[in-house]
Amino acid sequence: MKRFRRLRSDERIRSLVRETHIERSMLVYPIFVEEGENIKTPVESMPGIYRYSPDRLDELLSEADKAGIAGVLVFGIPKHKDSLASSAYDENGVTQQAIRKIKKNNPGLLVIADVCLCEYTDHGHCGLVREDIIMAVDYASLKKGGFMRQKQKNNFSLRLRVVGGNVTAGQLAAIAEVAKKYGDGHVHLTSRQSIEIPFVKLDDISDVKAALAEGGVEPGVCGPRVRTVTACQGSEICPSGCIDTYSLAKELDDRYFARELPHKFKFGITGCQNNCLKAEENDLGIKGGIKVTWRKSDCIHCGVCIKACRNGALSTDDGKIVVDASKCNYCGRCVKSCPVESWDTVHGYIVSFGGLFGNSISKGETILPFIEDHEKLMAVCDAAVSFFNDYANPSERFRFTIERVGTDKFREYIINAYNNA
Ligand code: SF4
Ligand code: SF4
Ligand code: SF4
Repeated sequence: MKRFRRLRSDERIRSLVRETHIERSMLVYPIFVEEGENIKTPVESMPGIYRYSPDRLDELLSEADKAGIAGVLVFGIPKHKDSLASSAYDENGVTQQAIRKIKKNNPGLLVIADVCLCEYTDHGHCGLVREDIIMAVDYASLKKGGFMRQKQKNNFSLRLRVVGGNVTAGQLAAIAEVAKKYGDGHVHLTSRQSIEIPFVKLDDISDVKAALAEGGVEPGVCGPRVRTVTACQGSEICPSGCIDTYSLAKELDDRYFARELPHKFKFGITGCQNNCLKAEENDLGIKGGIKVTWRKSDCIHCGVCIKACRNGALSTDDGKIVVDASKCNYCGRCVKSCPVESWDTVHGYIVSFGGLFGNSISKGETILPFIEDHEKLMAVCDAAVSFFNDYANPSERFRFTIERVGTDKFREYIINAYNNA
């Protein structure tokens, strides 16, 4: 073998004939991001290299940015691992948090993410392992992602996230396409306003999710967590509506959807006393209402409101319309029937707790006065969810937790939240 030493004999010749040039702008820096807070832990096998939590990444990124390198390669270290590598596609996964942070604070850095799943799987394989090859399917993780096992082997029914029963025409088209391509061409409309696509195969799950995401459709959830919030059409569409049910459903869904709890937890919102959505069937039911005060100055004394009130809460006394607060259920019929808008109104909420409509049937109970303030409503919802989280046994429905822990204690807890909001 002949070695061409002449070409390596000095710096000028080497520069002349060098084929490979390495510059800082061609380098990427691998970073290890660990889930948690205030973490900077040395990696023993790589002196000078650390694992950072997302909140401490800036220390490293500003240096990388200043050094003029091309970018960073992110390796996530999640707290939770499972057979489906669910932390890899968790919207709030550690890698996702890190990438969002880098894009925001160091937009000049190129971001490369490792797509190997071994960091996220509990079996350590770099990809998902199919049922028929090595291991059992993690049905709990699938359920968490809205996929429910069918009686037909390897077939799953995918529940979608339909908030307040509201689906756009575009979403419907995407759902129909997916049902045709990956299911058997039909969908099921569930009793809780969702849409399910049955006969999805295990191997198609990622493709199904991607196709739905393109059409703006997300999977729902099953199992022990907060389910998609249901709602009737409410005041935006329905003439009887006392509150904007859809906005409220969206707000509650954004706040609680998929929150892990000891058992399922359902919110249901109905726009008025007609109760089309049957609020009291839910763990937490919200019913819209209107608190009314008669305004003498505008009244033409037609008497229509008295006839419209189904509760006998209105009467006349010396030319005045009198509201009997003990009979009024905040239905708002007097207001809606009045030809001259002779009422002052406060729109608000009637909340019920502990409804059940499955193997056991119980009507949710109202323990608070008419809630006029939106912040108070949210405080009460937070309190109900925390109570359930803190006191429930695994697989115990809210109703039974309230009964076991004590109705008085629960009342006190909720009333405190209401009074302190
Ligand atoms: S509950 Fe009331 S607001 Fe909702 S759809 Fe029925 S009538 Fe309309
Ligand atoms: S809100 Fe309903 S129950 Fe109350 S006074 Fe008016 S019509 Fe009667
Ligand atoms: S419907 Fe209106 S105008 Fe007629 S009596 Fe009632 S408040 Fe007065």
